[in-house]
Amino acid sequence: MDLKALNDLSYGMFIVTTKKGNKNVGCFINTAMQITSKNPVIAISLNKENYTNEVLKETRRCALSILTENASQDLISKFGYFTSREINKFENVNYQNISDLPVVVEDTCSYLIGEVIRVIEVETHDIFLIRIEEAKKLSEDTPMTYKYYHEQRKGKAPKKAPTYQEEENTQAGNRYQCTVCGYIYDDSKEKVKFEDLPDDWKCPRCGVGKDKFIKL
Ligand code: FE
Repeated sequence: MDLKALNDLSYGMFIVTTKKGNKNVGCFINTAMQITSKNPVIAISLNKENYTNEVLKETRRCALSILTENASQDLISKFGYFTSREINKFENVNYQNISDLPVVVEDTCSYLIGEVIRVIEVETHDIFLIRIEEAKKLSEDTPMTYKYYHEQRKGKAPKKAPTYQEEENTQAGNRYQCTVCGYIYDDSKEKVKFEDLPDDWKCPRCGVGKDKFIKL
């Protein structure tokens, strides 16, 4: 089976958010699609280990922010590679409380708000069916596709994404992996060896320091 064929499916760049008590919770997802047109229902996919999944099963309401092509890497990394269990992802992020949900409006084309009407368990992930109650377009900017992020912005799917694929291990030489986001620094492909990188060097994908890398 050629798993690369799956890369030809299309995905977007989204942030799904919800609120448990006073705690704002959310994560980045690339899988969201419209299912019905009348009384619109959308489907999103969330990894079962994901904190947002756990919370959304309780709160049953969420917002989906559709990111623009210019969305900052900081925003994507913060919501994609960290967990709301440990950090407040909303700090220094432009969001608004709308219908009692923290809606990310930074780098956002449009947002949708709705209620979870069904959860379907699928192996490592859950599909949440969400009936949309509120929707608003915020800008005319182009929504970012996952393909654009991958090809133009050199982004990669984190391990818990439904579209994650193992990187091929075919290169000789030292390779180092970021333990936060999975980014691989391959000495044989870079001008500077990992060990010679300055101390303030940061993971190009998620922004953590060299100390978070392990040698493979
Ligand atoms: Fe990283």
